[in-house]
Amino acid sequence: MLPTKAFVVQSSTSPFEPFQFKRRDVGDRDILIKIDYCGVCHSDLHQVRNEWGNAVYPMVPGHEIVGHVVRIGKDVKKFKVGDLAGVGCLVDSCRTCESCKQGLEQFCLKQPAWTYNSTEMDRKTPTYGGYSNQIVVDKKYALKISPKLELAAVAPLLCAGITTYSPLRHWNTKKGDRVGVVGLGGLGHMAVKLAAAMGAEVTMLSSSTSKEADARRLGAHAFALTSDEETFKRLAGHFDLIIDSVSAAHDLNKYLGLLRIEGALVLLGVPPQPAEVGAFGLITGRKTLSGSLIGGIAETQEMLDFCAEKGITSDIEIIPIQKINEAYERMLRGDVRYRFVIDMKTL
Ligand code: NAP
Ligand code: ZN
Ligand code: ZN
Repeated sequence: MLPTKAFVVQSSTSPFEPFQFKRRDVGDRDILIKIDYCGVCHSDLHQVRNEWGNAVYPMVPGHEIVGHVVRIGKDVKKFKVGDLAGVGCLVDSCRTCESCKQGLEQFCLKQPAWTYNSTEMDRKTPTYGGYSNQIVVDKKYALKISPKLELAAVAPLLCAGITTYSPLRHWNTKKGDRVGVVGLGGLGHMAVKLAAAMGAEVTMLSSSTSKEADARRLGAHAFALTSDEETFKRLAGHFDLIIDSVSAAHDLNKYLGLLRIEGALVLLGVPPQPAEVGAFGLITGRKTLSGSLIGGIAETQEMLDFCAEKGITSDIEIIPIQKINEAYERMLRGDVRYRFVIDMKTL
C-alpha cells in the first residue's frame, strides 16, 4: 500500500485539515500519478457540505487532477514514466453494461466508481480524490495530456471542460448557432470558450454586472443581465441552445422562454432544491429541457485533444492547499476568475 498525503473533511461542518491514508499498490493495468495540480469544482463544495445528501466522510474531494506518471503496471503501454496524465470524475465502471459499451461510462448502469465520495467497483474500498499528492488509477480511466498547454490551467478541463463540451457536441453546435450560457463560473467560462471555438454566436447570461468585460474577453459576442427583466423580453425566442451552469435554485421557465422553436435548455448545475417547470413553456415550440453529466472517457480525451489543438485552457487562480477553506467561501460569493486550482507542491 502507498502512504498518501491529503486534505480532508471529517463532517459537513468541519474545515479541511491534513490527512494520511493508503492508496492501493500499482496493479498490472494501473498507473501511479504524482499530482501536480487539482481544480476546485463547485461539486466539491456541494458534496463536502452534504448538500446533495450523499456525503461519506472522511472525504478527500478533487476530480480535476493532472500530474506526472511515476510508475506503471506491466500491462500498461498507453503511458510511460514521465508522461503527463489526468483523472476526471470517474476512476472505474462495470465495463460491460450498455452504457459502458457505448463509451458512456458516466451513465454506467451499475454506477461508476466516482473519483471521491464513492467506492471502487468492489463497493467496499472508499475512493479519495485529488486534494492529495498521488493517485493510482486503471489506465483505461486515465487521460493523456498534451505538454503544449499550461498544466495548471488544463486541470479544470477534466470536469468543467468535459461537462460543457459534451452537451455542445451532443446538440451539434456549429457555426452561427445561437448559444446562451447561464452563469459565469468555472463551467460557464469553459462553455463560452468552447462554444465560441465551435463557431457559435455566444451570449453570456449572468447575474453579475461586473463580469461583462471578462465574458467578452473569453469569447462571448453579447452579454445580458439575468437580474434585468428586460433581458427576458429582448431575447425571447432567441437561442438554439442554452447551457445552464447555475449552482443555486433559479426560475427555469424564464430561460425556456428564451429558446427558439425546438430549442434545448440543458441543465448542468445541480442546485440541491428541485425546480418547478410549467408545461406551457415546453409544449409551445416543442422545446427540450434536458441535463448532461460530465462525459465518457473517449469523449473526455477528444475534448482534451480539441483544447490542445485550439490552445484552450481554463482561466485560473492558483492557491496553496492551506487556502482551501477560504477558496470555498470565495467560490460561494462568486469571487473566482474563473477556477481555483490547488498547487499540490504546497501539500
Ligand atoms: P461556480 O464556479 O461557483 O459558478 C456558478 C455560477 O452560477 C456563478 O459564478 C454565478 O454566475 C452563478 N450563480 C451562483 N449562484 C447564483 C444565484 N443564486 N443566482 C444566479 N446565479 C448564480 O460553479 P461551477 O464549478 O461552475 O459549477 C456550477 C454547477 O454545476 C454546480 O452546481 C456544480 O455542482 C455543477 N456541476 C455539474 C456537472 C455535471 O456533470 N452536470 C459537473 C460539474 C459541476 P454569475 O455571477 O455569472 O451569475
Ligand atoms: Zn466537477
Ligand atoms: Zn457499466
